[in-house]
Amino acid sequence: MKPMNIIVSAGPTQEPIDPVRFLTNHSTGTMGYAVAEAARDAGHNVILVTGPTQLRQPRGLDVIEVTTAREMHRAVLSRFRKSNCVIMAAAVSDFRPVHYYTRKIKRTGAARTLKLVRNPDILSLLGQQKRDKVLVGFCMETSALIANARNKMKTKNMDLIVANKIGVKKNAFGSGPTSVHIIGPAQQMAPLKAMSKRKIARILLEKIEHIWYKNEVN
Ligand code: C5P
Repeated sequence: MKPMNIIVSAGPTQEPIDPVRFLTNHSTGTMGYAVAEAARDAGHNVILVTGPTQLRQPRGLDVIEVTTAREMHRAVLSRFRKSNCVIMAAAVSDFRPVHYYTRKIKRTGAARTLKLVRNPDILSLLGQQKRDKVLVGFCMETSALIANARNKMKTKNMDLIVANKIGVKKNAFGSGPTSVHIIGPAQQMAPLKAMSKRKIARILLEKIEHIWYKNEVN
């Protein structure tokens, strides 16, 4: 079987406010890197588009480093045509500051308002031109996990979505074991109870390969 060309996005994005401050989130990149490594180990051609993380760059795959959501959008989109699959594991900032202050904002005055504008929804935009490509997304929710995940899968035209619940005590960020649901084309749910992100990555990859290779022209 021909190896697939797979793009994986990982980590957070950072949206600069001024030279010392930015908007971001808790993503560590662990899940995305695990998926990229699992795909590489299965013999696929992998491009990892990563936001800023503390992780060591994996070997044996192309790594593109980006900072903002718009940079991630450009990096993924310019490689989309030649890809067979995009796995958006990145926690993309939904908003960015309207204005970038070239000088550090001073602590004068009582209060400030930071005006934000929507970032591109990368996965939605890819979903509009997906054709036979396999599109995979992730979501984290504090409530109505499955309903929200199914809704996102549909509206963004994904083939698979991995749903993480954000717990009050235990959360899905970082390197510890997590419990996820992988929701697929038949909308069947496969709850995976507390397992390592490497194992989740391998299971996810098997599902992706199943979707891609069952299409016999591939
Ligand atoms: O933030 P949300 O729950 O909608 O994220 C669901 C999926 O969409 C994730 O896979 C994420 O990487 C992707 N996403 C994106 N561009 C955004 C926001 C989210 O591609 N601006």
